[in-house]
Amino acid sequence: MFHTAEPKDILDGKITDVYFDRTLKILKAKKMNKRVKAEFIAKNLPENWPWALLAGLEEAVYLMKHLPVKVRSMVEGTVFYPFEPVMEIEGLYQDFCVYETALLGLLCQASGVATKAARFKRLAGERPVISFGARRMHPILAPMIERNAFIGGCDGVSVVKSGEIIGEDPMGTMPHALIICFGSTADAVRAYDEVLGPEVKRVALIDTFLDEKFECLNVAEALGERLYAVRFDTPASRRGNFFRILQEARWELDIRGFRHVKFYVSGGIREHDVPVLNPVADGYGIGTGISNAPVIDFAMDIVEVEGKPFAKRGKWSGSKRVLRCPGCGARNIVPHGDNARVCACGRTFEDVLVPLLDDGRQMLKTDPPAEIRKRVLEGVRGLALE
Ligand SMILES: [Zn+2]
Repeated sequence: MFHTAEPKDILDGKITDVYFDRTLKILKAKKMNKRVKAEFIAKNLPENWPWALLAGLEEAVYLMKHLPVKVRSMVEGTVFYPFEPVMEIEGLYQDFCVYETALLGLLCQASGVATKAARFKRLAGERPVISFGARRMHPILAPMIERNAFIGGCDGVSVVKSGEIIGEDPMGTMPHALIICFGSTADAVRAYDEVLGPEVKRVALIDTFLDEKFECLNVAEALGERLYAVRFDTPASRRGNFFRILQEARWELDIRGFRHVKFYVSGGIREHDVPVLNPVADGYGIGTGISNAPVIDFAMDIVEVEGKPFAKRGKWSGSKRVLRCPGCGARNIVPHGDNARVCACGRTFEDVLVPLLDDGRQMLKTDPPAEIRKRVLEGVRGLALE
């Protein structure tokens, strides 16, 4: 068996830390069921990120829509900053206390993956960034990881099932295994070209046996105009100066008339590699860098009990509004009862937290992944990465 939960286990509240189960038992025994508001916030972001993206919301809605609660939230793909509540649940505490573990898990991981993807995409600019990291994570999570990589800004995903979920064709090149089977890169590439339909771009992997420069020339001569790109997955032990390897291969292809051949790079690419490689790379395959993104440490905290502000040490009590100026982008956190304020620039602040659920009724439609992605790319444009 796979060591994973069934969806029903999550909906039934079985994926809960036992102390919530015990809390529920005690509250029931003492007939204590207070009406509370609980907010989800991150006080810090991993790796000193200045901002992050909220993701995992569609799954959180799937979990909460059978609960008798009201939820306000940022929409999926919204940029948020430390200390801003991204979601608030209002209801009788017994009705949702056992779901804290699962809800946090849904938001923390998805938001980390989406944010990391957004950062890679920002660094890569117009160059495509493809999610290649499903293989580093439990396969049951692959579609979740790749969906969030995509909404964060990745141009494509590699896993077939992920492609179905996001409504995009999966992308890929060829594995070393194919080339090993043929014993020759050029032969493998010729077979690839013969067998696969014209909708599949001809991208040759060129680091299997020989020097990248000579393999580039071999496959370019084998396929000519039909060769769309070559992929450099050069092993770390052979990399030396990866930029110089790419630059040299570019030179050799160009002087032989193969300027149309694009360069894709993959294999342990980190954020700091991207600006270095951009002058010679036309696209990136990012694996572990995105799929193993740090999680966002959201916490769920009660901030209001029976209509009165009340919170633990270290948390600001009371229900809140998060405001954003549509003119200058200024942001503000104010008590929920405050009237909308006018920004210093003259424009009226807009609410970033909007009604999401009301006793099972969904107040906000779920956008298709491609639409969320488009909104993200616009939302993170111009934001500093450090
Ligand atoms: Zn303003």
